[in-house]
Amino acid sequence: LGKKINDALSNLNKDYHFDKQLLNKVLKDIQLALLQSDINVKYVKQLSDNILQKCNNIEEAVNKKKLIQQLVVQELTKMLDPKKQPFSLKSGKPNVVMFVGLQGAGKTTTCAKYANYWKKKGWRTCLICADTFRAGAFDQLQQIATKIRIPFYGNRTETDPVAIAIEGVKTFQKQNFEVIIIDTSGRHMQESELFDEMKQIYSAVCPNECIFVMDGSNGQACLNQAQAFKKAVDVGSVIITKLDGHSKGGGALSAVAATESPIIFLGTGEHFDDLETFKAESFVKRLLGLGDFKGMIETVSEVIDLESQQQNIKQIAKGQFTLRALQQNYKSILKMGSLNQFMSMIPGMQNIIQGQISEKEQINKIKKSLTIMDSMSNDELDGITQITQKQLFRISKGSGQPIENVKLLIDEQKTFAKTLKKIMPSMKDSDSKTKRNAKKV
Ligand code: GDP
Ligand code: MG
Repeated sequence: LGKKINDALSNLNKDYHFDKQLLNKVLKDIQLALLQSDINVKYVKQLSDNILQKCNNIEEAVNKKKLIQQLVVQELTKMLDPKKQPFSLKSGKPNVVMFVGLQGAGKTTTCAKYANYWKKKGWRTCLICADTFRAGAFDQLQQIATKIRIPFYGNRTETDPVAIAIEGVKTFQKQNFEVIIIDTSGRHMQESELFDEMKQIYSAVCPNECIFVMDGSNGQACLNQAQAFKKAVDVGSVIITKLDGHSKGGGALSAVAATESPIIFLGTGEHFDDLETFKAESFVKRLLGLGDFKGMIETVSEVIDLESQQQNIKQIAKGQFTLRALQQNYKSILKMGSLNQFMSMIPGMQNIIQGQISEKEQINKIKKSLTIMDSMSNDELDGITQITQKQLFRISKGSGQPIENVKLLIDEQKTFAKTLKKIMPSMKDSDSKTKRNAKKV
């Protein structure tokens, strides 16, 4: 990402004559680079609007490149400012800290890291296993607890996690423990039991702090997750895990910006020492420095007409995802020749398209869909006229594709549109807000 932004910026110093047009081009390149790192389209727009506003005097600036670069770091860092302080432990008191998050996010591992961190700083720390859902959860936590020599409470035979949590907290409070950590079970996003159980434990023990653990490699999906958890319980702060892999962390950044919860630590490995305290600016710099898509921006600018891509992003941002938008995206994918990298630029796309089938099959499917769309009229592509049974027959005949495929394609477009609406619920609000702010300036 850093390289891409640098590439975008290199135009600034090369060109002797600097004008608005060039600035717009540079900003567009930066937008694309940010979208590719899983930063939500809403924030990308906000960020480039903010930069644009601050660039009024850029004509006079000596080092324009440096100025814009600083602005990018500044704006991204600002996004991570939660506007509230994270909870701080009270010494000599029982601080109950509950961990929540999806299955596999890294809760149990992170509980242990967190416990180890505070123990090393001299706090009386202990662990409770309130995960009765996953087989082996008890053993997993007990093993780690033994390894890092931290007192552990659990009950292999009890099936009610609420009872365990209450009993565990009571036991440890009596023994004057200061950091009482509760590990809970995680499930999949769709399972309402997860949220029910979490709420029950939450209201039974009234934790002083509730930490949401999020897998940083989840990309765009992070935003939905963070919002859902925030809605269910009073999430006080966030720990992002698995930042040691190829994760770009941009999804996590958007999620945190949306929920306004402070990030307190980053998980950077499987070992219980792999926990870093969070510093917004270094996180942003790391994000900017990551990504191995060498020259990707050039490729994108070469093959895709930036204007139409921009139009496309604008439409998507408005929550409109027509067959035309789908067509444009599919064409771009074919031009780029790489599905995965392109997918990550478009919010939501990845989740839908990447099913069980291989990239080659995906490309074939895309080709078929494009053939079908070639047989549609402009009004049909733009969603101005509905496609009824009669049109279905016509399109099927014209494209030589079975009618089921035509229907499938239309369903697909509807799913895209729906997902995008879900991903960007507050898009319009933020749009109008930005405009109002722009007027004020
Ligand atoms: P839980 O289901 O949320 O409790 O998740 P676990 O703590 O059991 O972790 C799931 C997997 O992710 C395990 O294999 C962990 O070793 C791994 N894991 C957790 N945190 C990190 C991290 O920061 N980096 C890496 N590389 N792996 C992690
Ligand atoms: Mg666990």
